[in-house]
Amino acid sequence: MSNSSLGRRGRAHYVFDKDLVYERLRDLLGDRVNREEHIRHSYVGDTGWLTLYHAFKRIKAPLPDIVVFPKNAEEISGILKVANEFRVPVIPYGGGSGVWGGTIPLYGGIVVDMKLMNNIEINEEAMTVTAEAGVLSYELELKLNERGLTMGHYPASMFSATVGGMLAARSSGVASTKYGKIEDMVLGLEVVLPTGEILRTPVKPRYTGAVGPDLVQLFVGSEGTLGIITRATFQLHLLPEKRIFSAFSFRSLEDGYRSVVKMLSRVTPAVVRLYDEEEVMRSKFKTYTPPEGVRGALLLLIFDGFGEMPELEEKIAREICLENGGSYIGDEPARKWWNERFRHYYPPLSPSSNLPMIYGTIDVAATFDKLLKIYRAVKEALYSRYGDYQLQTAAHFSHWSKSGGMVYLRFYVLDPPADPEKAIKLREDIIETAIKITAQMGGIINDHHGVGLDLGRYMELQHGPIGMDTLRRIKKVLDPNGIMNPGKLGL
Ligand SMILES: Cc1cc2nc3c(=O)[nH]c(=O)nc-3n(C[C@H](O)[C@H](O)[C@H](O)COP(=O)(O)OP(=O)(O)OC[C@H]3O[C@@H](n4cnc5c(N)ncnc54)[C@H](O)[C@@H]3O)c2cc1C
Repeated sequence: MSNSSLGRRGRAHYVFDKDLVYERLRDLLGDRVNREEHIRHSYVGDTGWLTLYHAFKRIKAPLPDIVVFPKNAEEISGILKVANEFRVPVIPYGGGSGVWGGTIPLYGGIVVDMKLMNNIEINEEAMTVTAEAGVLSYELELKLNERGLTMGHYPASMFSATVGGMLAARSSGVASTKYGKIEDMVLGLEVVLPTGEILRTPVKPRYTGAVGPDLVQLFVGSEGTLGIITRATFQLHLLPEKRIFSAFSFRSLEDGYRSVVKMLSRVTPAVVRLYDEEEVMRSKFKTYTPPEGVRGALLLLIFDGFGEMPELEEKIAREICLENGGSYIGDEPARKWWNERFRHYYPPLSPSSNLPMIYGTIDVAATFDKLLKIYRAVKEALYSRYGDYQLQTAAHFSHWSKSGGMVYLRFYVLDPPADPEKAIKLREDIIETAIKITAQMGGIINDHHGVGLDLGRYMELQHGPIGMDTLRRIKKVLDPNGIMNPGKLGL
């Protein structure tokens, strides 16, 4: 097996008396401690290709030794104190919907399933909601909508992602251009530190405060390596009274890209999705059929809000698109995409239903001047190096901000090697090619799926040796025994 095969990872660093640890945890949580084999098998990883491929090919992968189901921060504090005493790895587990191997229990240890922590408190006067880490994204949004409120956070995985997991992996929803990423929404956190202390930050309104470095943002994106997030407070918005949909075709991707960049300094759509030719053609088999002649690029826009604002914004955006070579093709493609947006990601439409096919997503971000160039360079390199394996790509640009955007480039290897060792290595090579080009051209190597296990080896490339050393020092101070999610984030 290649080095990346999960079964080959050593467990030598972490040797502990499993029976004793189990008994100590039972003293704390009673029946909410489990070590039955079939339960441990449920926590073998996440929803990423590496985990699914191992299961599909029946390749041995590491199991956790114990799974626990705490109900509050105090219980988690007790668990982490035991883990520290016996030097046991701890893997926080939300919905397991991550895609880069963040919840794979590389060295065994204790999986802390957060889903019993599911309390929600809405404060309408403050326009905030405080949710425990195990709350599902979908449930949270549903509760808010019942009161005419929203977070504006709609990840495609909202039926399986939790508050803690979304914060830990820097999640972004489809309407992030208007509402921001999860890190823009969070105002305060409760975190259990690796040594068991419970940190509660003040709830600070956005764009306020001059009280030193931001402790909230230290834990956002830490992927379970610096502690366990137990509760978070987010800002809220009124549920918009209307949504206006609009779609444009372009002869070239460049024309569409230029239109988006121009419109973003004038208007703020909730959703902006620019599809390349390959994805337009793939879409034919999904939720809509592009009109005759739409091959160059397709742009879907959604504006939401109150009164005349959404129509006014759409009017300005439409003028920009028409001036830059776009043709208006009605509201239906964008409306249909919105109504059916979850269908793309789950079987039978998800590529995971075509295993052992190799697939993956390169979701990288950059400023306006670099993003399109990175996309071109990555695509060219992938087709020229891996064309023999019948590699195909399909991409869209989305999750834009006022300073840049993200390209979500899917790759599919239709003729993968049958030998698992070669297949795993081939996927690693494809990812490495894309990540190295992105980093060399000044891009950010992941936009909103996190780093997990797969991208950990590129953290130094992203942050530089001094940046990485700074992260390692922070880790060492907070987690002196290295128990928190070892092997992830490159730490
Ligand atoms: C079909 C599909 C569609 C997706 N679409 C999107 C999308 O639109 N936008 C998006 O952002 N992501 C998307 N993802 C990726 C995934 O849903 C996100 O990464 C999500 O944030 C993970 O949440 P989770 O609760 O499942 O976390 P998990 O997978 O359980 O964990 C992810 C990481 O966070 C850590 N962690 C979990 N809970 C805690 C906690 N309480 N404290 C500290 N660390 C913790 C874990 O140890 C792990 O390292 C998609 C995934 C799938 C499978």
